Amino acid sequence: MRPAVTKSNEPPANNSSETPYNAVRLIADLPPCGRAPPATPESASRSRTPQAARGTDKTRVLVVEDESDIAGLIKHTLERGGDAWVEVAQSGDQALKLSSEQPPDLIILDLNLPDGDGVELCRRIRKTSDVPILMLTARDEDVDKIIGLEVGADDYLTKPFNPRELVARVKSVLRRSS
Ligand code: CA
Repeated sequence: MRPAVTKSNEPPANNSSETPYNAVRLIADLPPCGRAPPATPESASRSRTPQAARGTDKTRVLVVEDESDIAGLIKHTLERGGDAWVEVAQSGDQALKLSSEQPPDLIILDLNLPDGDGVELCRRIRKTSDVPILMLTARDEDVDKIIGLEVGADDYLTKPFNPRELVARVKSVLRRSS
């Protein structure tokens, strides 16, 4: 059993050492809204490796959100560039299970979950992992809760949010953690 090290997907030392994380590339490559990038052979071979589609060269994001519309929006927004792989957990229990099976590079965590409080879940995750965590809150007053309790979240976003702001905050959190 491997220890839960958050950067275990970092490739062995080689010529890619300037970008140990593909997180920044994830955002930079996001195409304009609504249009898929042209699938030229060159861009296809450069930007993705189909054989490794499940994980080795993609930023893995775990979204913990029971509202399927919001989870779907986050997934669509982050996967649009082709360098992120988003998994959705609809409850805290499912999130703990998924994150222990395959540690993500980033967790986006809703505060109000059907089986508990996102703050408590954040604390539990922090006991074993320093994975970047972006909290989602429905109300401004929840922000005080997140900050006041110092639960270990790296940033927060208040719903409803602009997808562009989501992308910017994800990028910022990943850059700080790399
Ligand atoms: Ca919720």
